[in-house]
Amino acid sequence: MKNIVVAGAGFAGMWAALAGARQAALSGVEVSIQLISPTAHLTIRPRLYQSNPQALAVPLHRTLQPVGVEHVAATVRSIDAVNKCLNATDDQGVIRDLPYDSLVLAMGSQVEMPEIAGLKTHGFAIDDFQTAVHFDQHLATKAIISGLDTIVIIGGGFCGIEIALEMRGRLSEHLGVDRARNARVVLVDNQSIGGPLGEQALPVIRAALESANIECREHACIVEVRKDQVVFDDGTEIKTDTVLNTAGLRAHPITSTLNLPQDSSGRLKVDDHLRAADHLFAAGDVAAAFADDDHLALMSCQHAMPMGKCAGANAVLDLVAEPLLVYRQPDYVTCLDLGEAGALLTRGWDRQLVMAGQEAKGLKNQINNQWIYPPMDDASLILEAAAMDWHPSRGQLKN
Ligand SMILES: Cc1cc2nc3c(=O)[nH]c(=O)nc-3n(C[C@H](O)[C@H](O)[C@H](O)COP(=O)(O)OP(=O)(O)OC[C@H]3O[C@@H](n4cnc5c(N)ncnc54)[C@H](O)[C@@H]3O)c2cc1C
Repeated sequence: MKNIVVAGAGFAGMWAALAGARQAALSGVEVSIQLISPTAHLTIRPRLYQSNPQALAVPLHRTLQPVGVEHVAATVRSIDAVNKCLNATDDQGVIRDLPYDSLVLAMGSQVEMPEIAGLKTHGFAIDDFQTAVHFDQHLATKAIISGLDTIVIIGGGFCGIEIALEMRGRLSEHLGVDRARNARVVLVDNQSIGGPLGEQALPVIRAALESANIECREHACIVEVRKDQVVFDDGTEIKTDTVLNTAGLRAHPITSTLNLPQDSSGRLKVDDHLRAADHLFAAGDVAAAFADDDHLALMSCQHAMPMGKCAGANAVLDLVAEPLLVYRQPDYVTCLDLGEAGALLTRGWDRQLVMAGQEAKGLKNQINNQWIYPPMDDASLILEAAAMDWHPSRGQLKN
């Protein structure tokens, strides 16, 4: 029996494995599908700006088992694309070779901390489950004890804005409402804050930051992070033991070991079928794929899920020599959480503002709590949702 291996069980990888199972049934072939990741859960990564990240780990077995996908708990160390074999280690350090006939690479992205002295040692991140849990624990313990009550967030992009506006709510869980209200939350960017999110969105973002009393430092450059202080290039300092970096997302470094063309974020260049090389497909944050004729897909859940479905189906179609699916996703929206100010929704690559305030917050909650969760237990629902053109608004996803 032919074997498909999917490396990485995030939004792209999980859906690739499910779409592979769906395509195998449609094509009437038996294939084995192995989904590899260190832990047997899906991290709901777009929600890692919120408190209690432990609640954002969804068990994979209830989605994989009904459709016959095997989860392999291991960390991929290297890929031999010539001999079609992965090298991985399990949590005991036992080394395994995993041969494949077709591979879907879906190992996501990581924050690569900017080159600021002391940031790697003293800074926090929220780009994966472990870092988000570590940051949450820090807020729950050390922030209270130190009494500094100051949070510095580096990066005024999507993620930095969302967590800045969530921060007072999170602090009030630990410090109490009054102390949280008076805490200092500083959002720092060496360019403008929220700039790439669109001209129409910008005034809404600024108003939200102002009403939440977030101190914005734009075109500002931090040169050093110490244990209890950050230092700017103009010599000013802020006393804090809580520096969170949200800047510098790059594709998983394994992409650079494959000797294949990459973009400036380390993503593998793929063709319209998401193929990076013979029998090697890439999806999600590791893939630089054209979503339409002019735009590359972004590192986003919104793109990772359909890409995963396309790559997984194509991994099967490739093995049975049937025509491959084309990845295209021309509709693009952004739904940004603005904390107590609600949310905003833009549509299109030129980011036209179409909704703001509490109406947009309702949509954000729906995306966060339903649409990005996979169906569970029911094989027919799971396989139906694994179709590339399926949209979550057609059905309740979370079980
Ligand atoms: C705080 C935050 C907020 C975000 N908000 C949004 C949003 O509002 N909307 C949106 O569309 N996107 C958002 N994103 C981006 C979105 O989460 C990612 O683009 C998406 O998760 C990418 O999916 P992926 O499958 O490529 O990677 P991931 O979901 O990160 O999955 C990667 C998988 O690879 C596994 N892996 C990593 N290394 C190895 C290894 N060596 N061996 C085996 N497995 C490995 C991981 O364990 C994981 O299972 C946000 C991201 C963050 C961090």
